[in-house]
Amino acid sequence: MPKNSRPDPSTLAIHAGVPPAVRGDPVTPPIYQAATFHGGGPGDDAPLRYTRYGNNPTIEMVGAKVAALEEMEAGLPLASGMAAITMTLLALTREGDHVLASSQLYGATRLFLAEELPRRGASTTFIDPLIDQDWRSRLRKNTRLLYLELPTNPTLRVVDPAPIAQLAREIGIPLVMDTTFASPINFRAGAHGADVVVHSATKYLGGHSDLTAGVVCGTSDFVREVQAMLRHYGPALDPHAAWLLDRGIRTLGVRMERHNESALHLARWFETQPEVDTVIHPGLPSHPDHKVAGRVLDGFGGMLGIVLKGGREAEERFCGALRLAAVAPSLGGVETLVSLPRLTSHRGVPAPERAAMGIPDGFVRLSIGLEGVRDLERDFREALNAVSRG
Ligand SMILES: *Cc1c(COP(=O)(O)O)cnc(C)c1O
Repeated sequence: MPKNSRPDPSTLAIHAGVPPAVRGDPVTPPIYQAATFHGGGPGDDAPLRYTRYGNNPTIEMVGAKVAALEEMEAGLPLASGMAAITMTLLALTREGDHVLASSQLYGATRLFLAEELPRRGASTTFIDPLIDQDWRSRLRKNTRLLYLELPTNPTLRVVDPAPIAQLAREIGIPLVMDTTFASPINFRAGAHGADVVVHSATKYLGGHSDLTAGVVCGTSDFVREVQAMLRHYGPALDPHAAWLLDRGIRTLGVRMERHNESALHLARWFETQPEVDTVIHPGLPSHPDHKVAGRVLDGFGGMLGIVLKGGREAEERFCGALRLAAVAPSLGGVETLVSLPRLTSHRGVPAPERAAMGIPDGFVRLSIGLEGVRDLERDFREALNAVSRG
């Protein structure tokens, strides 16, 4: 499709993948709440429909919608973000293969690459893209894929994917990207050279903290391979969760607009508060990747980090005084969530190493929701008052 005739992502989020309707059809897509479908009788050798195969029509509809948003051929929803990631990695690797991955990864992804893939005879080399851009020198003859996450958790670093995508193309292996933090509204992986994109749809795509799902998008051939893994390992998405996911995606455009706007507003506001030492948000000129992010992203996202003066004690007071924002892991929902990477995603990392990664004591991660931004400001101000009362 030529670029200028491409519908706006907000339009795709509502209409892509939905079959054309005739008079009397429901305006909203139906749920095919079924495990199995008629077929397979004598003389019928057409492919069977079975929900575990990932070809339930509700699942297919959501897959097609996310693929359209990502500008990719095909998409497949699965039971969680980790299911999307692990099925992708298992589909792409065989015994003796090698993976070259960014070291700045979601914890479970990193552990899967470091500990689980080796049990299947494949190995991984990690490269820190923030300090080393020389992916080429880490390639081996048996390197089968490059893996990159953008933006990273929780420091929201944005690596320019272009040279990595260029390298992948040159040697003819796929670049796999996890762009959960950006959502397909803020970053369209297909347009930026990713061959495969994976999402934790539990986050922005679903958007209401009420479902667990993942999505993988790529070429039709590749998505078929992932679907084949699904048959063996079984993490199909339940049709009801698929329908809820579609319901969430229908408002993705406006939600992301508001997430982007509120997080940037609050990032600037936090910068003026005396209890805050540093604010981490790619929309701020003080962020190390502000320029790259401005070029690569269509929005800076709803995530932000603050480093409180006063370390752990300040963190405790801040979290304890919040009334509107909830202290909880995860992100991307309508409600504002606050978490301490020290106790969640980076629990296993020793303090000095964590500080070197840009996550010192006092680091608080915020997933800015859709509440009124003045109400959030008031809630955060109260929490900062508790910090300064000491
Ligand atoms: C949450 C998350 C995952 C895992 O997703 P689940 O849906 O919890 O399985 C993977 N990658 C990133 C970047 C995430 O934030």
